[in-house]
Formats: sequence, structure tokens, C-alpha cells
Amino acid sequence: MTKSTATPANLPEKIRHYINGEFVDSIDGEEFDVINPVTNEPYIKAASGKKADIDAAVASAKQAFDEGPWPSMLPRERARVLNKIADIAETRSQELAEMESFDSGLPITQAKGQANRAAENFRFFADLIVAQVDDAFKVPGRQANYVNRKPIGVAGLITPWNTPFMLESWKLAPAIATGNAVVLKPAEFTPLSASLWPGIFEEAGLPTGVFNMVNGFGEEGFAGDSLVKHPDVPLISFTGESSTGQTIFANAAPWLKGLSMELGGKSPAVVFADADLDAAINATVFGVFSLNGERCTAGSRILVEESVYDEFVQRYAAQAKRVKVGLPSDPSTEVGALVHPEHYEKVMSYVEIGKQEARLVAGGGRPEGFETGNFVEPTVFADVTPDARIFQEEIFGPVVAITPFKSDEEALQLANNTKYGLAAYIWTSDLKRAHNFSQAVESGMVWLNSNNVRDLRTPFGGVKASGLGHEGGYRSIDFYTEQQSVHINL
Ligand code: NAD
Repeated sequence: MTKSTATPANLPEKIRHYINGEFVDSIDGEEFDVINPVTNEPYIKAASGKKADIDAAVASAKQAFDEGPWPSMLPRERARVLNKIADIAETRSQELAEMESFDSGLPITQAKGQANRAAENFRFFADLIVAQVDDAFKVPGRQANYVNRKPIGVAGLITPWNTPFMLESWKLAPAIATGNAVVLKPAEFTPLSASLWPGIFEEAGLPTGVFNMVNGFGEEGFAGDSLVKHPDVPLISFTGESSTGQTIFANAAPWLKGLSMELGGKSPAVVFADADLDAAINATVFGVFSLNGERCTAGSRILVEESVYDEFVQRYAAQAKRVKVGLPSDPSTEVGALVHPEHYEKVMSYVEIGKQEARLVAGGGRPEGFETGNFVEPTVFADVTPDARIFQEEIFGPVVAITPFKSDEEALQLANNTKYGLAAYIWTSDLKRAHNFSQAVESGMVWLNSNNVRDLRTPFGGVKASGLGHEGGYRSIDFYTEQQSVHINL
């Protein structure tokens, strides 16, 4: 039987672009279907942007930037608008979460958490721009030097479909806080929650043209590609797959654009025998099955010291089997529906590959009672070898690979044995080992004996195929601004 889920109140009639303060259709009138991940039925049409729509959006942003007043407003004045955006997003967090959960298949309780985090991003960057201090250097009696910090212009923001509203806020907040104008290209699988931004920004008093949005696809000739290739867009902040990042890097090269790339991951969680196993199991179950496993920093490879390996695998599999798969709208659901049938097929193909490569100890198919829709049982493979595809490749779903190790050296070698380097999680009660391992592991971020929780001031980013550059805290301010040095001879 096809399950259904509550349709959120206030669904728009269709999803449109937002350019120069107006909701508009594509210039060529083209639209595409957006799919409900629980039924896999189209539930709304979205405008499909092309070059001409991007041209209009960039022209609007450029005009707002060139004519002001946004870029030259005092940080305190811009911060007031950002704080209002945060207040409105927080007040509307239930509505936002319902839309996000309906459109993306995320469990409603987790979508609510993400909506609140989106509000927090605006509050955080409001505080940061007011407190911003720029460098000044003095050579006594000879020279004084100081830094002028300036917004850059039109920033192109390209975002993925996992936790879309929150990830959009992670780029929108610092880009506009620093005085830029933006064109956002949301992910085509999940455009619904982004359709709330225009109302939130208008109510908060963001000047017309500072925020523009073009929906649609990424490929050549479509919205994403046209934004990357637009000569009046000097900055591109991109979050998505590593292979898309490579294409964007090449396409932006002729203009030498500023790029920030937050890409894929295959992050290791390393569990030593001296770890608090209860805490490690709870955290590593949460680390790969929360957000449906559609999380860039998911700890999707668990490396476990040999002496506790059998116990770990047995307890982990038992706990994974207790994770509740259900309708995204049900508050007791822990894993909802994957975002889209294409992604479901990809994840399920890895489940089948895993069955050939390793030992299946939990899940491995559709959960009982969910014959349709993109539902996958939390799936655990043990005895996974480093040459296995499920060890090396990003699956981006509720599927985890567990591998034993014998020594610290082998653990490190396994941890670093993928092309990715986004996050690493280390579980041990030996402090010296924890710090030395953190230093040696090839990852942009490390969590020691802790869950995936971040302080917004810290750098966020990956190494190797997981990214280029860092955002987070003042690094986001640096990315979205120029720093001009002024030198004075005394
Ligand atoms: P994707 O690369 O397929 O698409 C991301 C966005 O890029 C979409 O908006 C898409 O339309 C657009 N796009 C595609 N081709 C383009 C092109 N040639 N030019 C310009 N834009 C283009 O990624 P996805 O499947 O939406 O997202 C999942 C991926 O994102 C995973 O690999 C995940 O690890 C990664 N991710 C990384 C982070 C991080 O912070 N490192 C966070 C979330 C997701």
C-alpha cells in the first residue's frame, strides 16, 4: 500500500524564481516536476531556470550592489535586518520544518532542529559583523598600515538537497551580512523550503535585489552552470558532490573566480578498545543514520580495534535494527524517506554491491510495511575491506561499513585510505593517542569522543576531494570580502 504523509499548509501554487523583488516564471516558461519522496508522485511544478533567467537575476543583484544602500550600510544596520530574519525564521520554524520534511523526506523532528539552526546562522553572522576587527600594523615613526574590508559584489550560491534550508542559510547569512548581493540556486530535488526565503527577507526589510533566486538544474545551459559562467559573478560558494565541484572549478577558471567548495565525504569513526563503548555505539549509530544518512559528515566507515570488534559489531547491528524507519511527518521517526527515487536507486545499488563485498549484519532492503517510496532499512556491513566500493565511495544514505584494525598505525592507514577528507571521529580514553591521531588523520574536522556538534566560530571544510577553502566564523567573512591594504609613510 502506498503510504501518504500530511501535506503542509500554505503550499505555494508552484515554485517560481524570485528576481528583483518579484516571483517570476522562467522566461521560456519551462517547468519541472518536484516529487514527494513518500509517494514518488509529483506534487508541485517548479520553474526551470536557464541562462536568460540567471542573466536577469544577476542584473538585479548587480544593480542592488552598485546602487546600494545595502553594501554601504553600517554593520549594525545590516545586523538589525539579519536579526529580524533570524527571528522570523525561528517563529516560522514549525512551518519550515513541515515543508522541509515533506519535500526532502527528513524526519520532522530533525527538520525542526535544522530550521532553528538556520535562524542561528543569521544571528551568529549579525553578531560577527558588528564585532568585526580588521588588521592594523604600525612600524613606529616609519609607517602605518590598515585594512579596508569591502564586500565583493554578486555572490553565486549553489546548494545541495540535504538539509537544504539550513545549508542555504549557511551561505546566505555571511554573504549578505558582509554587504554582497546574491543569486541562490537551490537544489532541484528540494526547492520547496527555499520558496519561503523571499517572504522572510521582505518582512525583515532586506532591500530589493539583494536576494535573488533561480530554481532549476545544474547542467550546461541550465541555472547552475549559467551562474558559474556569468562574468558579473566573481564568487561562487558551492556545496555538493566532489565531481560537480571539479566541473565548477574548471568552468570558473576563465574568470579566476573566488571559490569555496564543500564537497563529499566518507568519514571514518575510529573506535579503540579503551573507548567508552556505550557512548561510541550511540554516537556512531546517530552519526550515520540521522538525517537519513544524507549528511556530508556522516561517519560512514567505522574502524574498530580487533579486541572489541565482535562485541561492537553485534551490539551495533542490534541497535541499528532498533532505529525507527517511518513517515517523515511522524515525530517518532528516526529515518524517513530518501530524497528522490534516483537517489534511492543509487543507495540500493550500493546495498547490493555490499552484499557481494562484505557481511550484512543489519538491514539490507526495504523496511516491512513500506512497499513504495524511498525507504531503506538502516543497513550495516561488517568485515569490509579497504578495496571494497562500499569502503571507498560515498553512498549518502543509511548504510555503514565496519572494518577491524589491529594497531594505531593500521587504524590511521585505514582512516586515510580514501580520496575524501571531510570529518573523522575518534573514540579512545587515551588522551595522548586522541590528540596525536587527530593531528595525523587527513580530515578537515575531527570530533574526539563526541558527536557531530559544532561551534559556529570554528572552521568548516574538508581536505583532499572533500573541499577547497574553509567557511565558518570569520573565515566566511574573509571569503565574502576583499581585504585592501592601505599603507601610509609616517
Ligand atoms: P550535486 O553536486 O549533484 O548538486 C549540488 C548542486 O549543484 C545542485 O544545486 C545542482 O543543481 C548543482 N549543479 C550540478 N551540476 C552543476 C554544474 N555543472 N554547475 C553548477 N551547478 C551544478 O550534489 P547533491 O547530490 O545535491 O548533494 C549531495 C552531495 O553534497 C554529497 O556529495 C554530499 O557529501 C555533499 N555535501 C557536502 C557538504 C559539505 O559541507 N562538505 C554538505 C552537504 C552536502
